[in-house]
Amino acid sequence: MQSLDILRRSPTADYTATIVGSIFLTSTIKSIRLQLDRDDFRFLPGQSIWPKFERDGRTFSKIYSIASSPSCCSELELCVSRVGWSSAFLQDLAIGQTLPLRGPYGLMTLSELPNRPRLYIAEGSGIAPLKSQIDWLYECGYQHPVWLIQANPETPDQLPYQSHWQQRQASWADFHYRAAIAQCPERVLGGLSLNMAAFDIVICAVGDRTAQLEDAVLALGARAEQLQSEKFIAF
Ligand SMILES: Cc1cc2nc3c(=O)[nH]c(=O)nc-3n(C[C@H](O)[C@H](O)[C@H](O)COP(=O)(O)OP(=O)(O)OC[C@H]3O[C@@H](n4cnc5c(N)ncnc54)[C@H](O)[C@@H]3O)c2cc1C
Repeated sequence: MQSLDILRRSPTADYTATIVGSIFLTSTIKSIRLQLDRDDFRFLPGQSIWPKFERDGRTFSKIYSIASSPSCCSELELCVSRVGWSSAFLQDLAIGQTLPLRGPYGLMTLSELPNRPRLYIAEGSGIAPLKSQIDWLYECGYQHPVWLIQANPETPDQLPYQSHWQQRQASWADFHYRAAIAQCPERVLGGLSLNMAAFDIVICAVGDRTAQLEDAVLALGARAEQLQSEKFIAF
């Protein structure tokens, strides 16, 4: 384990991972745990990997965010929504099967412990890179307010990691979790009356929803330079 509040990323390189865990978090989203074949992999919270796939004699790759904290870099967690061929392939890998991958990649990261309140908004498997950051902040004993608003349009009454966030809230005084069940995150956010100017804001959702959530926080008084976001789309 690397020192908690010192972050490093290794150069992008090829690895082989072995599946060591695969469980449903909702009826469509799985947590998949990967053990890497080498211990030189270092990533920043919010970064991603590119698993490599082979289908009909063609090799290709898709990008997936790392959902686990960088405090343990040789075992990674992915949080994968089942939508098409690649995500179904990942979800159907059995314990012990191997997967080639390349990484780390990505700019929606933390490179050091921040010093301002943070507001996270996630939809669906967009919780993955946010979970990596929030878990790392928790492990570091972060002492500024951290808010998480979470929704899941795929199965609105089932949120990935909901019990994890409820446990975090019970043991971390600065963490405030709001599950947007049966209402959109914009409505939950509007009801909180947060001073948006005080926050650094991180948003991750699927497709156009990222831009819509950005518009919502800007309309509530946030400035563009406070925002970091990622859009899950299929390449
Ligand atoms: C920076 C980045 C990080 C990503 N990280 C993750 C991740 O951590 N977990 C994850 O599940 N996906 C993630 N994705 C999406 C992932 O790369 C694939 O695009 C996705 O799994 C669809 O590939 P597919 O072959 O299964 O289906 P495709 O047949 O390629 O796509 C089917 C449809 O699914 C939509 N779609 C893409 N991603 C999602 C999603 N996550 N949820 C719902 N619908 C989606 C596409 O817009 C498309 O319309 C990420 C994408 C980007 C750009």
